[in-house]
Amino acid sequence: MISVPKGTKDVLPQESYKWQYIENAARKVAKTFGAAEIRTPTFEHTEVFLRGVGETTDIVNKEMYTFLDKGGRSITLKPEGTAGVARAFVDNGLFSSALPSKLFYITQCFRYERPQAGRLREFHQFGIEFLGASDANIDAEVILLADSFLKEVGINNVTLYINSIGCKECRKKYQQALIEYLGKNAEDLCPLCKDRLAKNPLRVLDCKNDDCKKITAGAPKILDYICDDCSKHFEKVKRLLTVAGVDYKVDAGIVRGLDYYTRTVFEFVSNNIGAQGTVCGGGRYDGLIAELGGNDVPGIGFAVGIERILMLLENTGVEIPNPDKVKVYLAPMGEKEAEKAFELASLLRARGVAADFDHMGRGIKAQFKYADKIGVRYVAVIGSDELNNGAVKLKDMTDGKEEILKFSELVNKEF
Ligand code: ATP
Ligand code: MG
Repeated sequence: MISVPKGTKDVLPQESYKWQYIENAARKVAKTFGAAEIRTPTFEHTEVFLRGVGETTDIVNKEMYTFLDKGGRSITLKPEGTAGVARAFVDNGLFSSALPSKLFYITQCFRYERPQAGRLREFHQFGIEFLGASDANIDAEVILLADSFLKEVGINNVTLYINSIGCKECRKKYQQALIEYLGKNAEDLCPLCKDRLAKNPLRVLDCKNDDCKKITAGAPKILDYICDDCSKHFEKVKRLLTVAGVDYKVDAGIVRGLDYYTRTVFEFVSNNIGAQGTVCGGGRYDGLIAELGGNDVPGIGFAVGIERILMLLENTGVEIPNPDKVKVYLAPMGEKEAEKAFELASLLRARGVAADFDHMGRGIKAQFKYADKIGVRYVAVIGSDELNNGAVKLKDMTDGKEEILKFSELVNKEF
């Protein structure tokens, strides 16, 4: 027997409705904010992620699925959605279309990580990218969109943390202060952070190592270093979130794992799914489009991990409605009746009613057992009496009530 590769999962028919539920909610909420779907390739030239995610990030350093294709090109399976969308934006000249460009995507992502609960090698994200606007009202709107999506799927027990990491200018000043502080404690940092200290000190604030966390707890706070413009921008984001009734906590430790973020950064975190508690992360990335060869177009977005959302729903007992189940199961008691069942099922389906009938030549008892197993709502029994009378005996499986319906009544019934 060949099993699935480590860190990947099959979505089986009895659980795929949960995925559809999440995806439908994502599409619905995104559309209410005026966003349209964008679909980009599963793989890109590696360059897209080197530039678009950043060479000092965990993703680029150790998590990418990169290979040479048969033409000798370096190809990478997308580890996240934003860089590919930004590439497509530039590639297709979307900056000359109506701005802001409000985009959403639902995609699989690939990262070579150590698999554990909430951490897979192939996982899925729902993401938003709003490109072309720099006003704080779009930052607040993107955060509100994430909040609305979480509420739409039934999640209320997450905390929103926000922060501003300033623009290039104020970050320079902050980095100096940070390097000075971390430099004094360099010996106690984990080996990775020693390296980060030289290459990208902000990343140290993102480290999950306990020793590093102790050190970073006393580090200078970026909010004390941001310039007037960045500060005003952040104040407005907070004001608008309050107007929208979205609760938040300011957390100077939120810096995000990706290189291209500027100003607003945020995460929605849950306490109900263990160590991998971040269900959504996002922020502003005003330099990204230019980094990928486009104009100077600002942008902001987020990505939600769909597997973590499903875990959270399961762990907090949120029931997901299953609309996939067969509504009417036709149970014939003989050969002739079976042909009638075939005909009635076809007529019901043509009206959009999920209908099925016996394909296995089972006796009536076994058919009821099967119908019960697959969770049908109604069983329509067709015996020889019923066939002679042009009727079925329709049993409601939820309360056991039965009624006789003419074939035409069954076919036209509102289910
Ligand atoms: P983490 O801190 O958990 O490693 P991250 O900062 O790498 O997260 P992002 O790149 O911001 O995550 O991705 C956005 C979201 O995608 C995360 O908040 C999470 O819900 C989900 N996610 C990230 N990596 C994985 C993974 N390996 N498996 C499942 N979901 C993931
Ligand atoms: Mg990660």
